[in-house]
Amino acid sequence: MSRKFFVGGNWKLNGDKKSLGELMQTLNAATVDPNVEVVCGAPSIYLDFVRSKLDAKFGVAAQNCYKVAKGAFTGEISPAMIKDCGVNWVILGHSERRHVFGESDELIGQKTAHALESGLGVIACIGEKLDEREGGITEKVVFAQTNAHFREDNVKDWSKVVLAYEPVWAIGTGKTASPQQAQEVHEKLRQWLKTNVSEAVANSVRIIYGGSVTGATCKELGSQKDVDGFLVGGASLKPEFVEIINAKV
Ligand code: PGA
Repeated sequence: MSRKFFVGGNWKLNGDKKSLGELMQTLNAATVDPNVEVVCGAPSIYLDFVRSKLDAKFGVAAQNCYKVAKGAFTGEISPAMIKDCGVNWVILGHSERRHVFGESDELIGQKTAHALESGLGVIACIGEKLDEREGGITEKVVFAQTNAHFREDNVKDWSKVVLAYEPVWAIGTGKTASPQQAQEVHEKLRQWLKTNVSEAVANSVRIIYGGSVTGATCKELGSQKDVDGFLVGGASLKPEFVEIINAKV
């Protein structure tokens, strides 16, 4: 079964209207592989701006959202608000949300459930820390995180889910996982989906890799059997992002 290659950019807390405007001009003018789904994760305050400036061939994602539609939750945004800006994706469970802001598996699961229910696509992030890898529990950690994302058991349309494997030790460190390390975990995640959801879902869900992906590393990573794309932080703010989008051409 063919899975459409998916490349997400995660701009994190970076840029302003000027610099993001320039970046979007570069992206809009670039020749990109039409067989790749590209989604840019913008800071929430710029979602409207980014959606209005970025060419329609690119999707936009929020980098977080809350678990309910509305109410007394100062500072939060809802999937309904994200959709109201014409934005169709959200990144949830990113390691910075987990480890800088203390988000629990339980909260992340509730957010994923609510975002999917609201009709957003979810880039569901998981990944082990260095001590967990060195302790030989990578699989245990990423399976538990995957289970927590979808625990609410209400994924009606798995085409709205992209699973992003991002080893924490590779994020923002310049230390990319080797293609073999990525492939090994992706293959196990696909097996997990087969056992816990279904064979059809396991074959169709995109499992993307994130963690210091660059123009130099994307081709070999992207050629692995179970690597269906990337989630890109630092390099997504540079013209190099176009090279990563075109990793398969
Ligand atoms: P990085 O970030 O590419 O800068 O390592 C990836 C991510 O955090 O999604």
